[in-house]
Amino acid sequence: MSQTPAPSANPEIQPYFEALRDGKLLIKACTQCRQPHFYPRAGCPFCFSDTTEWLESRGTGTIYAYSVLQAAKDLPVLAYVTLDEGPTLMTSIVDSPPSALSNGAAVRLVVRPGADGALAPMFTLI
Ligand SMILES: [Zn+2]
Repeated sequence: MSQTPAPSANPEIQPYFEALRDGKLLIKACTQCRQPHFYPRAGCPFCFSDTTEWLESRGTGTIYAYSVLQAAKDLPVLAYVTLDEGPTLMTSIVDSPPSALSNGAAVRLVVRPGADGALAPMFTLI
């Protein structure tokens, strides 16, 4: 089985990765319809405008849904978190006992290495 090469750095989303190194989460907002979106991309997924701008998320949100992966040693809680700005992202809940989790629970951003070693936005209970 061949090894999948690491993705090359995409200049379009470089600010996103730089912000993660500072413990911040950048999302994008459309300058035409004003809707924020995640993951970051050059075109607005709502009105297809190609004028978007970076927006620093407050890093707070709520758990939309989650699943505890009993067999997973690292990052055992997979979740969808809806940011206070609106977008929902697939992520992991960390530093929080699974028994304390519930849909709708308030969470805040923490930046940790993901399964691939690259920094990723994750969340912990507030
Ligand atoms: Zn738009």
